[in-house]
Amino acid sequence: MPATLLTDASRRLEKAAQYAPISDDATERLKFPKASLKVAIPVRMDDGSLRVFEGYRVRYDDTRGPTKGGIRFHPNVSLDEVQSLAFWMTFKCAAVNLPFGGAKGGITLNPKDLSKLELERLSRGYIDAIAPFIGPDLDIPAPDMYTNSMVMGWMMDQYSIIKGVRSHAVITGKPVSMGGSLGRDTATGIGAFFVINSMMEKLGKRPETLTVAIQGFGNAGSVVAQHLFEAGYKVIAVSDSKGGIYNKNGLSIPDVRQFKQTYQKMKDVYCKDTVCNVTNHNTITNEEILSLDVDILIPAALENQITVANAHNVRANYIFEVANGPVTADADKILEAQGVALFPDILVNAGGVMVSHFEWVQNRSGLYWKLDKVNKKLQSRIIEEATTIWQVARRKDVSFRTAAYIHALSRIGEALNDRGTRDYYTY
Ligand code: NAD
Repeated sequence: MPATLLTDASRRLEKAAQYAPISDDATERLKFPKASLKVAIPVRMDDGSLRVFEGYRVRYDDTRGPTKGGIRFHPNVSLDEVQSLAFWMTFKCAAVNLPFGGAKGGITLNPKDLSKLELERLSRGYIDAIAPFIGPDLDIPAPDMYTNSMVMGWMMDQYSIIKGVRSHAVITGKPVSMGGSLGRDTATGIGAFFVINSMMEKLGKRPETLTVAIQGFGNAGSVVAQHLFEAGYKVIAVSDSKGGIYNKNGLSIPDVRQFKQTYQKMKDVYCKDTVCNVTNHNTITNEEILSLDVDILIPAALENQITVANAHNVRANYIFEVANGPVTADADKILEAQGVALFPDILVNAGGVMVSHFEWVQNRSGLYWKLDKVNKKLQSRIIEEATTIWQVARRKDVSFRTAAYIHALSRIGEALNDRGTRDYYTY
């Protein structure tokens, strides 16, 4: 039987459990999601026809608090994918010490096929279907691939209509006008930048000497690219689903972002002559970008991009996983043998859920923070956890991924123990 994404993800758990103070019973419990919901969402299309979409919401583990995790709109969304993403959220929230468990949701579709009104009906229909499964103290969704603050605003509004009360704290990543936090839209990319920069400092590396390639130029990838560029790193290649661009002397990331925003696909960057006048770009495929001779490789698109099939081709010294699960467990072993230092998703992209937590706190207190306060808190919190994970890796002589899981698992294990023995009364 082919390994599912979830079984692949839980192999990381087994490895870390050898080093963490957690019982076998607790480890076994963590291999299974607490609850998984599959729903059908009927949507009236603009032409009057009816289409039914399949959606999911998985609450993986809530020992440390209400569950938290994004909602993804993508053709590849399946129950297996959502379960493994919910698994990662459980460990991510624990790794960076947020008072949340892990969850995830998604709808199987290509959102680019829908009009804005169809997308709104679908988003509201999804909330109609999962409303009893979520709540500010139960499960708090957020954006993920191909969802954004507009979608979160519709969803929070629909939940509030169903409950008959305004319920800002049910969803994070909302528009600022509807209770969103300043800085949430850029938090994943900025958080990843803080982690990369702090790790390079610890390794004694200077930004000007380091080249970077980034696969995926969306919300997360484009923001991390911008901050690396501003700090002096040489970003030499970026790509999106349509392909990528490459310049060995470094790309002007602000120009690329501007063009991407204007033309919505990367290919237009080198088709329109204004940017081509600034600098020469070569085209590059998404497969080629993974094997570029760079110091730092940043997968920031989808899961399962580096597998046993292509891990041998990786030439980067450092990988920072901005996407969730871009490297499979088997590829991990190959990269480790090649001496590649890999910094895992559950730390690198945790800035998004950290600022989601800040948003939830602001919604519940009714006091809203300035952008500077949000970014300063993000910086100090994520660097503190990154430093602890660095120390665990050095002390136990394990990879940074295993260290991050040990760190997370210690917190989850402590909470499971402190919850007591209710689960054993039936013996
Ligand atoms: P997004 O939808 O804004 O961007 C995704 C990017 O990936 C786009 O540029 C898209 O063109 C590109 N892409 C899609 N398929 C590709 C392919 N086959 N090859 C190369 N590029 C491809 O999504 P995002 O929010 O930036 O999320 C990207 C990754 O980061 C996902 O794995 C997501 O789970 C993870 N992540 C995002 C956040 C967040 O707050 N946005 C938080 C944590 C983790």
